[in-house]
Amino acid sequence: MDILSQLNEKQGKAATSDAHYLRIIAGAGTGKTRTLTYRIAYLLSMGLSPTRIVAITFTNKVAKEMTQRVRNIMEKGGFEVRGYPLIATFHGFCYRFLKKEILALDGYSREFSIAGDDDQNTIYKEIFKDMTKGESKDFCKAVTGKISSLKTEGKYPDQIASSDVPLGATYTFNELLTVYQRYQDYLTKQNLLDFDDLLILTVRILEDKEEVRRNWQNKYSHFLVDEFQDTNALQYRLLKILLGGPASLTVVGDPDQTIYTWRGAKNDIIKDRLSRDFPGLETVVLDENYRSTQEILDHANELIRHNRDRVDKNLVAASGEKGEKVHYSRYYDSDSEGRDIASTISALVRKKEADYRDFAILYRANYLSNAIEKQLTAYKIPYEIYGGMKFYERAEIRDALAYLKLVIGKDDLSFQRILKAPNKGIGEVTLDKAKELEKELGGDETLFTVFRDHQDKIKLTKATRLALQDFYSAYDAFEKAYRMGKKGDEIVTAVNQYLENAGFLSHVRSVDRKESEKLSYTASSSTSRLDNVMEFLRTIQNFFEEDYVDEEGNKREPDLVDFLIEVALQSDQDAIEDDNKVSLMTGHVSKGLEFPYVFVTGMNEMIFPSYHSLTDGRAGAMEEERRLFFVCMTRAQKRLWVSSFGGVNFRQGSPYVTSRFIREANLVVPKAEPKKDFAAHVGLHRPAASTGLGRRLFDVGQAKALAQARPSTTESYAVGDRVVHASFGVGKVTALDGNKIIVDFPAPYGTKKLVVGFRAFRKMKEDE
Ligand code: ATP
Ligand code: MG
Repeated sequence: MDILSQLNEKQGKAATSDAHYLRIIAGAGTGKTRTLTYRIAYLLSMGLSPTRIVAITFTNKVAKEMTQRVRNIMEKGGFEVRGYPLIATFHGFCYRFLKKEILALDGYSREFSIAGDDDQNTIYKEIFKDMTKGESKDFCKAVTGKISSLKTEGKYPDQIASSDVPLGATYTFNELLTVYQRYQDYLTKQNLLDFDDLLILTVRILEDKEEVRRNWQNKYSHFLVDEFQDTNALQYRLLKILLGGPASLTVVGDPDQTIYTWRGAKNDIIKDRLSRDFPGLETVVLDENYRSTQEILDHANELIRHNRDRVDKNLVAASGEKGEKVHYSRYYDSDSEGRDIASTISALVRKKEADYRDFAILYRANYLSNAIEKQLTAYKIPYEIYGGMKFYERAEIRDALAYLKLVIGKDDLSFQRILKAPNKGIGEVTLDKAKELEKELGGDETLFTVFRDHQDKIKLTKATRLALQDFYSAYDAFEKAYRMGKKGDEIVTAVNQYLENAGFLSHVRSVDRKESEKLSYTASSSTSRLDNVMEFLRTIQNFFEEDYVDEEGNKREPDLVDFLIEVALQSDQDAIEDDNKVSLMTGHVSKGLEFPYVFVTGMNEMIFPSYHSLTDGRAGAMEEERRLFFVCMTRAQKRLWVSSFGGVNFRQGSPYVTSRFIREANLVVPKAEPKKDFAAHVGLHRPAASTGLGRRLFDVGQAKALAQARPSTTESYAVGDRVVHASFGVGKVTALDGNKIIVDFPAPYGTKKLVVGFRAFRKMKEDE
C-alpha cells in the first residue's frame, strides 16, 4: 500500500517508524492526527492484528472519524480489514476495561451505569439536606469543588488527610470526609460510577491486582494517544502501568495547545516527563501546516510568542499561500458584532463562496452566544450550538434515558425522575417515607422495588396507585422484550411502546402544548420536546445500525447498555453533525477541529482573557488563555475574523477594554474607534441588501446619507429613555429642555443636546 504518498516525508517517517516509544510534537494543523491515523493503518497493513492496537482520542467524535478513516485507507490500499482496533477516549477505554474487570473489587457489579453531572448534583443535594452547613451555597460549592479535584488526582476518601484541606477553607476535614464518603456510598449503593471513578477504579485494579495487570500489559502491542498535551496525571499513570510490559507507545501533541490545566492537564508530561519515564524516546517534529494560510499563521505565531513557558516554533503554511488578510473589527456593542457576522456569512453564502457548514463562530464562554444567536436568527441563518445545552442534558431526554437506565440498574435517581414524568402524585413526605423504608428493608431493595412490592406500607392515593400500575406493566413488557435479546428496529419499537404505555409520551405532548400556549409568538422557532424525544429514538436506531467494537477489538452487535454508556460518555464536541449549519462553540470545544471560515468574537479584557484568569493569580493562567486564543485562531483554514466590542461590562460596572491579545497578535486596531455600526439601530439596515464583507468599517458619510433617508418623526421623550444616534451610538436621556433632549452617550462622545425630530437619531424600543 502506498500510504506514504498521502504524507510528507517527516509524517511518513513518523507513521512508519519502528521506534518503541515515539513522540510527535508539532504545531497546530501540521497533520498530527492524520499521521496517527496513517500509523494505525500502516501497522495493520504490516499484518498486526487490530486487537493489538489501542488509540486514545480526546472525543468520541474523533474516535469515530479515525475508525472510519483507518478503514478507508485500508480498503483503498487493497488490504483485507480483519476487525477493528479499539479507538476510544480514556473514559471509553476505562469503561470497557471495567465491564470486564470490575469484579476484582469488592462491592461492585458489572451492571453499573454512569452518573452524569446532573445526577451528581442530585446526590449532593440529598447529602447537604442533612447537614447544618448544607444551606450555605459557598460551603457546598467549596466542598464539591474540592471533591472533584481530589477525584481528578485519583484520591478516594480513604486516601485523603487533613493536609488536603487548604488554609482558610470554609469546611473542616471531617466535613469534607463525611460528604465525600456519603457521595461514594450513594454511588456504590446505586451501582453508579461517575466519570472520575472510571479512571480511578481502572488504575486501582491495575495497580493492585497483579494478574489483571499482567494480562492487560500483554494484551496490546501498541498504544497511540492523540492530543497528548492535555493528558492529566491520572491518565498518564494509567498509560504508564499499561506500558509496563512489551507494548510500544506513540503520542502526538502540541504543548502550545494545552488548554485543560484547570482540569488537571499537565503539559510538562509531553515536554519533559515522557523522555524521563520512557528511555530511548524518539521525537519527530512536524513543521508544515496544511490547514491555514500563511496570513493566519503569521498572526497566530505572533501571539503565541508572548508565552514564556514554551519551546519556540513557527508555523509555516505548506501551500505557501499568503491568503486574505485577517480582519480585526471593533464593534460598538455585541449586537453590532453579531449583526456584522451574520451579514458577512449571509453575503458569502449568497455569493456561493461558502456553505453554512463552512463557518464556525468561537467565543470564550457559552453565555456569549446569545447576542450572536439573536442576529443569526434575524438573518435566517441555520446554526447549531455545541457544548451549551447538550442534547442529552435536555430535561425530556434525561427523562427518557431514566426510563431506559432502569433496565440496567434500577437506580433510585432514574426512578425518581420517572415518578415526576409524568407526575404520579408522590410528594416529598411520601418519598422520604419510601426512602426510609428502603433503608430499613436493606438488601437489594431500591425505590423501584419499594413502590412495587411494599405499597401496603406507604400511604398512596388511588390515582397514584393506578399511575404506578401503568408504569410497572409498561416496564415489565419492555424488560421482557429486552431480555429476549431484541435488537435493532425491534428494540426501538419496544422503547417507543414502553414510553407510550407508561404515559411518558402523552406527558411530553402536554408539556409541549402548555409551552406553546405560553410562547405562541416564538414557538415556530423552537423544536418541541416531542421532536427531541423522537430524535432520541432515531439516535438509538442509528446506534444499532453501526458496529460496536469491544475491548478485544471484536466487532459485535451493540445492545442497549452500550448505547446508554455511549450517551453517558458524550462530550461537548460529539454532537457536531454534518448538517449544513453554522457551528457555534467555545474555544475549548473547538480543539482539534477545522473550518474554512472562523470568527473569534468577544476579544475583550475580562472576557478573553477571562476575568478568572486575571484575578485567580495562578501561575500560568494568562499563558493558558493565550494558548486558548491560539487554538481558536488556528482552527481557520481560509479566512479568520477577530472582533471585540464596546459598551459596559455589567459584571464589573466598567467599559469594555480591547483584549491585550489583539495587540499581541499584531492585529490592527481600526482607526475610527469605536466602530460605528449604527445604521441598523436607526432602522435602516436591511440584511438582504447588505454587502457584508466589503464594508467592515462603518462609513460615516454613508451613515449620514442613510439617516437622511429616514422620515422625520415627532417622538416624545422621557428621562431614562434610550436613544440611538447614527454617530454617537446608544445613549440615555438625562433631561428634557423644550424641544431638545439631553442625552448621555458613552465615551468619547459624552453629553449631547439633540433637537427632537432630527433624522439622525430615534428612540429605542423597550426590547431592543
Ligand atoms: P491540531 O493541532 O489542530 O489537532 P493536527 O496537527 O492534528 O492539528 P490534522 O488535523 O491532522 O492536524 O491536519 C490538519 C489538516 O491538514 C487536515 O485537513 C489534514 O487532512 C491536512 N493535512 C495534513 N497533512 C497533510 C498532507 N501531508 N497532505 C495533505 N493534507 C494534509
Ligand atoms: Mg489533531
